[in-house]
Amino acid sequence: MPALLEGKTALILGIANKWSLAYAIADAFRREGARLVLTYQGARQKETVEELGRELDAALVRPCDVSLDEELERLAAELRSARIRLDAVVHSIAFAQREDLTRPFTETSRQGFLLAQDISVYSLVAVARMAAPLMTEGGSITTLSYLGANRVIPNYNVMGVAKAALEAAVRYLASDLGPRGIRVNAISAGPVKTASARAVKDFSTILDFVAQRAPLRRNTDPAEVGDTAVFLASDLGRGVTANVIYVDAGFQAMGL
Ligand code: NAD
Repeated sequence: MPALLEGKTALILGIANKWSLAYAIADAFRREGARLVLTYQGARQKETVEELGRELDAALVRPCDVSLDEELERLAAELRSARIRLDAVVHSIAFAQREDLTRPFTETSRQGFLLAQDISVYSLVAVARMAAPLMTEGGSITTLSYLGANRVIPNYNVMGVAKAALEAAVRYLASDLGPRGIRVNAISAGPVKTASARAVKDFSTILDFVAQRAPLRRNTDPAEVGDTAVFLASDLGRGVTANVIYVDAGFQAMGL
């Protein structure tokens, strides 16, 4: 079978380490022949992500803190001057204060609420606005969501509200960018033990519950998220936009 992403260039934001869902996606993209541009959040992640970039044969590894407009603008300018056309963008970024993932939702502060919305939702809008002019032949933008967007998951709290807004943003962006041939979708992944997930109080209880109840009776393998992201970025996904695709061993279907 020919490689599904041969000749395509993908910008992937959100690798912190080998356990990041963005890493599994980058690994699958590389397997399918994509040229990779990776970003990292700040100086603390630089060395690790540059090392992973070498491993993944990335064309470019650049800093990009999505809370800073100037870093997004600088990234766009660098891609423009390197004459890089983007075919795919993966936004795999979220953040909330740890206390907002451990105490009752009612206790969420205004500042904590706005921070979660800024980093986990508005950043998708900002990234799409930065990347769209570079996607001159159309393409695919994919973000990562979670079931907490539409069901109550204990302690997911402020991030559940952010994911609900993220999924709505996917639909509005898909409507705006569709006429330019740019598709926008979310993958709603089942729980996976990553650095971000560990911030949610009692996260291992969620993992155990899903493994017992999901139709496939197991948790999600990050590689499954990577393969679905490949589908969305490839020509196989050409008819899919404004969608949320669950890659969660079927857990979202269960009532009890
Ligand atoms: P992760 O901690 O590996 O990745 C989160 C990334 O967000 C990190 O790379 C971090 O640097 C980045 N980030 C946070 N603030 C940033 C900022 N200001 N600028 C730039 N980058 C910033 O964890 P993950 O689980 O791989 O999370 C990736 C995405 O997947 C998130 O949107 C998360 O909500 C989503 N998701 C995770 C799970 C899960 O169970 N792990 C399930 C469904 C969805």
